[in-house]
Amino acid sequence: MNTAPADPASLLARLADIVGPAHVLTGDDVRSRAVGWADHGPCQALAIVRPASTGEVSQVLAACHDAGQPVVPFGGLTGLVRGAVAGAYEIALSLERMQRIEAVDPVGRTMTVEAGVPLQRIQEVAEQNGLLYPVDFGARGSAHIGGSVATNAGGNGVIRYGMTRDSVLGLEAVLADGTIIPALNQMLKNNAAYDVKQLFIGTEGTLGVVTRLVLRLRELPRGNQAALVACPTFGDVTRLLKHMDSALGGALSAFELMWNGFYRLVTTPPARGTPPLSQEHEYYVLVESSGGDPARDQAQFEDAVGAALEAGIVVDAVICTSEAQRESLWALRDDVEGIFRSGMPVAFDVSLPLAAMEGYVAEVVGRLEREWPAYRRFVFGHLGDGNLHIIATGPPDAAARHGIERCVYEPLAARGGSVSAEHGIGREKLPWLPLCRSPAELALMRKLKQALDPKGILNPGRVLPD
Ligand SMILES: Cc1cc2nc3c(=O)[nH]c(=O)nc-3n(C[C@H](O)[C@H](O)[C@H](O)COP(=O)(O)OP(=O)(O)OC[C@H]3O[C@@H](n4cnc5c(N)ncnc54)[C@H](O)[C@@H]3O)c2cc1C
Repeated sequence: MNTAPADPASLLARLADIVGPAHVLTGDDVRSRAVGWADHGPCQALAIVRPASTGEVSQVLAACHDAGQPVVPFGGLTGLVRGAVAGAYEIALSLERMQRIEAVDPVGRTMTVEAGVPLQRIQEVAEQNGLLYPVDFGARGSAHIGGSVATNAGGNGVIRYGMTRDSVLGLEAVLADGTIIPALNQMLKNNAAYDVKQLFIGTEGTLGVVTRLVLRLRELPRGNQAALVACPTFGDVTRLLKHMDSALGGALSAFELMWNGFYRLVTTPPARGTPPLSQEHEYYVLVESSGGDPARDQAQFEDAVGAALEAGIVVDAVICTSEAQRESLWALRDDVEGIFRSGMPVAFDVSLPLAAMEGYVAEVVGRLEREWPAYRRFVFGHLGDGNLHIIATGPPDAAARHGIERCVYEPLAARGGSVSAEHGIGREKLPWLPLCRSPAELALMRKLKQALDPKGILNPGRVLPD
């Protein structure tokens, strides 16, 4: 992908002068680290450089830019599209020493942080201040806030609070040549010309390194209400979404759909969960709301579920009466380990308009059954966000993986869908990007890349196809 640097020793010496020799890791200090969450093999980077400040990030990038040295920003390495998998000639720029929470403003409801702070720490500090940082997903303990911004992560609260993009008011980033862009806006409204922070949100470290952030916080809900319900048809599922959203007056905070095959898997031994509802229904929805008055909210929630039962769009339901019950429902929805037990997983995170979803799933499942009958298929997702996860499992085989990818991705194009709802493109989805982005969009992306990183040193070979 890229070639050996002309004089790595002198570049590494220059980097050691900037960050201190203890923070330029090479050899065993690099190999002893794992490639990432999904790959426990040794990290292959030429070196891992660990700056402690924006100034140091800027100097490191300027030195790499002078040398034409490829750089891979490292967050918590939990990304799922191999964007931060560093090659042997790439230098990893790790934000792990930049972990300061600089300020919390409870009145303006903002938090200013460095990019290396773990997501869970942000959530905890927000909560200590009676506030909520609403982006949440399974890798919260390891993912950095900078990595989650670079990937514009989604997760469980998107239907209520939006993607990460919606929780970033401002940021500071460093361009490939070391130029610092201080865009630390603190206001919800700011239409003063281009909103440059958006260049660095969801662009997976290809346009700059995110170093500091101003995050938008929300009021902390005082309680949650949850239910698992069964719907007979997909039409009933979409009617339920509209009904609950309207009946709860903006308090709907999750709407997670499980197809029958997924529900059976996570409620049948050896899975840990037992079925709260019988396994005979076509669709199961975990629906949740949150608000500021638990007693009133619970009554409103129960009324809404009751009305759905009366209307026949829900045929069975269990409503949680305790936090432990709510957690056990989420444990079912999150039990993807069960899927991984049944062979090599090929996992997808696609999105498409709700109106097209039922036909899409039927086509994909039909194609997989015909073309890859040895692979089991599971479908579930954040339905309220139009986001589906499809996982096929079976014997490890590179040709099968490509064939399965074709079955899942190709039917998206005609339906206006996306090959990535929330995980990004990285290296993994690179060949499929043109299915959901027009030639004009791709050309504009390349122009931006050329303008901000003319030597192409930041995350080369990721996100944008050549
Ligand atoms: C168990 C599990 C559950 C997950 N659930 C979800 C989910 O529900 N929703 C979802 O969207 N994602 C999910 N993910 C994916 C992943 O957690 C997110 O993509 C996360 O935001 C990545 O953060 P990170 O710090 O680990 O980034 P990394 O993996 O380190 O990096 C990801 C990309 O961002 C770049 N990058 C990292 N830091 C910076 C920076 N400071 N500046 C510029 N570029 C940078 C990297 O070069 C790489 O291209 C899940 C992952 C796991 C393991």
